[in-house]
Amino acid sequence: MVERAVAHIDLGAVERNCAHLRSLLNDGSRLCAVVKADAYGHGDAWCAKAALAGGADWLAVATAGEAAELRRHGVDTRILVMGALTHEEAKTAIEAVADVVVWDERFARALAALHTPGTVPVNVHVKLDTGMGRLGTKDVAAARAVAEIAAGDERLKLAGAMTHFATADEEGDEHFPAQLDAFTPFARGLKQEHPDVVLHAANSAATYRDPGAHFDMVRCGVAIYGLDPFQRDPAERGLEPALSLESYVAAVKRFERGESAGYGRRWRAGEPTWVGTVPIGYGDGWRRALTNNCDVLVKGRRHPLIGTVSMDNITVELGPETDIQPGEPAVLIGSQAGETIRAEEVAERIGTINYEVTCGLSPRVRRQWRGQT
Ligand SMILES: *Cc1c(COP(=O)(O)O)cnc(C)c1O
Repeated sequence: MVERAVAHIDLGAVERNCAHLRSLLNDGSRLCAVVKADAYGHGDAWCAKAALAGGADWLAVATAGEAAELRRHGVDTRILVMGALTHEEAKTAIEAVADVVVWDERFARALAALHTPGTVPVNVHVKLDTGMGRLGTKDVAAARAVAEIAAGDERLKLAGAMTHFATADEEGDEHFPAQLDAFTPFARGLKQEHPDVVLHAANSAATYRDPGAHFDMVRCGVAIYGLDPFQRDPAERGLEPALSLESYVAAVKRFERGESAGYGRRWRAGEPTWVGTVPIGYGDGWRRALTNNCDVLVKGRRHPLIGTVSMDNITVELGPETDIQPGEPAVLIGSQAGETIRAEEVAERIGTINYEVTCGLSPRVRRQWRGQT
């Protein structure tokens, strides 16, 4: 059955990707599956459960609301909220019994004040900014001070210490090892004093790049969805893409030479040809920058997207002769009869990364999960 825009998500692939990632980890290192931003557009509660079935021990999200959403779906694993929190958001995180990230003494004290007597202490992860230049403190003494507050206050628990890499996906650069060198002595020192602290630093790229960055846990997002952290072929790293994006050819028309398709007439037929209209557009997250700039699979063959991407439709050239009839399925991301278009290819066309392509698929694209775990 064809449908205007549907993202098929293979939960078995998410599960296998997690099992594969786990097999790469140093002994004793755990996998935290990052399911922020609705699991990079793949559906957070479904993917969380698939990741746990594949051997992930923890989950991570960016916002308190995302943690609460997972709890509403019955997820009872440890959840780390990685983002900055307002006091209101911190309350939501605490109610969701999620772990939170802290790098500032004032916030540590405010968090303790938000704790409800008689409930479990709030799990705190201290964040050292070793060169991402975003969240966390750059000052090791300040990070230690936060850790001591968390360790010394019965309303809080010092649960972890972390950092985040800026260039793990740029193989051979010097910033990554410098960040690792800055984190390691701080982390090891803290662990000596507080043996229960979970040390974590690596994202997907760092997990592949350097086992020395695995510590007690890795935080993998993009790789668990079978997207390549290095923007190449995920298969090279043993990953299976979980998401495919499908639509269908809704109309097929003959174009005479000089006739145009779409807003602004940004494509005109050079020769007589056939054009198919596929009812998906930037309102679905199929970006306007893909105008005259990607392929679509129909009957297992690549056809160029021609003309301007509009909000609800795109047009594809079918060629001077065609056997394609209205109703034929069209694949925008994924495989069809042996031909494949990956999210990495779409990203490259428009100068972005695979993350943004799948995260950008709008709620109007129905998600269909299969291989339920
Ligand atoms: C998003 C995020 C991750 C996951 O990164 P991937 O590159 O998707 O593996 C890990 N840690 C932090 C702090 C993040 O924000």
